[in-house]
Amino acid sequence: MKKHNFSSGPSILPDEVLQKAAQAVLNFNDSGLSLIEISHRDPTFVHIINSARNQALELLKLKNKGYSALFLQGGASLEFVRVTYNLLSANGTAGYINTGNWSNNAQNEASYFGKIVEVASSKNKNYSYIPKNIQVPSNLDYLHITSNNTIYGTQFKEFPQTDVPLVCDMSSDIFSRVLDFTKFDLIYACAQKNAGTSGVNLVIVKNELLERIKKTIPNIMSYKKHIEKESMYNTPSVFSVYVSYLTLNWLKDSGGVAAMERKNRAKANLIYSEIDRNNLFFGNAVVEDRSTMNATFFLKDESLAAHFNTLCLKEGIYGINGHRTAGGYRASIYNALSITSVQLLVQVMQHFETKFG
Ligand SMILES: *Cc1c(COP(=O)(O)O)cnc(C)c1O
Repeated sequence: MKKHNFSSGPSILPDEVLQKAAQAVLNFNDSGLSLIEISHRDPTFVHIINSARNQALELLKLKNKGYSALFLQGGASLEFVRVTYNLLSANGTAGYINTGNWSNNAQNEASYFGKIVEVASSKNKNYSYIPKNIQVPSNLDYLHITSNNTIYGTQFKEFPQTDVPLVCDMSSDIFSRVLDFTKFDLIYACAQKNAGTSGVNLVIVKNELLERIKKTIPNIMSYKKHIEKESMYNTPSVFSVYVSYLTLNWLKDSGGVAAMERKNRAKANLIYSEIDRNNLFFGNAVVEDRSTMNATFFLKDESLAAHFNTLCLKEGIYGINGHRTAGGYRASIYNALSITSVQLLVQVMQHFETKFG
């Protein structure tokens, strides 16, 4: 039986993506070869990576706006460091907004490299909200922000006003909602939440931003070098790039980012209404900052956990345990998850209330 997959990442992919990816591993485009045993310089693969790079820009309405898209390796965690290599100057300061474990990691990694300042933080209340009215110093090399906090279930609905370059980790909500993406100078996202599978990061960078960089950067860390080499400076993760290519095509065929936003809103409304209605659960993220991608919730009486877990298991609900640092539950409701899976989870929560409430 196919499970209802609420995993936070690697996470659910559309069925057709899984089928096409599986087929490509066995016999790619009827070539008699596997996708993962041909050269990345083979014209068929070059076409794939370039159309995926194009599709990413198109979906975010950044085509012909002076941006480049890259598929790099090392996870979002490597981008924490690559960003500093490229954008943090020897005497400069980078600003960080600390809204969860990942943004905390990003600023820690940057602090090994240069001077950083924490511009705002919600750590004092266990990352349950998004700081408001943020005053951004004007002398920063860049401001780093995490648009969606995968572990705590909060999400920026509005971004701080600033003239300094804006760098955004969109790992867990890229392609999930319509934004004016031209506000950002650099966007990165590991693929395994909403844009494919692990092994590849999508990086979208404003070309202009890189022109000011005067220092020498090791090639593998240099966005400029990766752009110059059309995302083929070294061997890309061919399978992961292919899965992203399929996922982005699926997104486009499903109506693009606006259609995803409508679907994600409907799913989020459904699960949050139940969290608020149900007497056995509560949500701790501040209501106006709730994520439309990761809904976190807790049992009022932890001793009932085993009963709830058993009910979920029986219904084929997978992956709703909270992150090990946050506890409780987390339903990740990424683009590929259908509303029927959320309806089922809601029914299980209601059934649980009838039995134990
Ligand atoms: C998952 C996640 C990361 C970490 O990605 P890796 O690919 O494991 O390095 C970073 N930031 C956010 C917001 C995430 O959700």
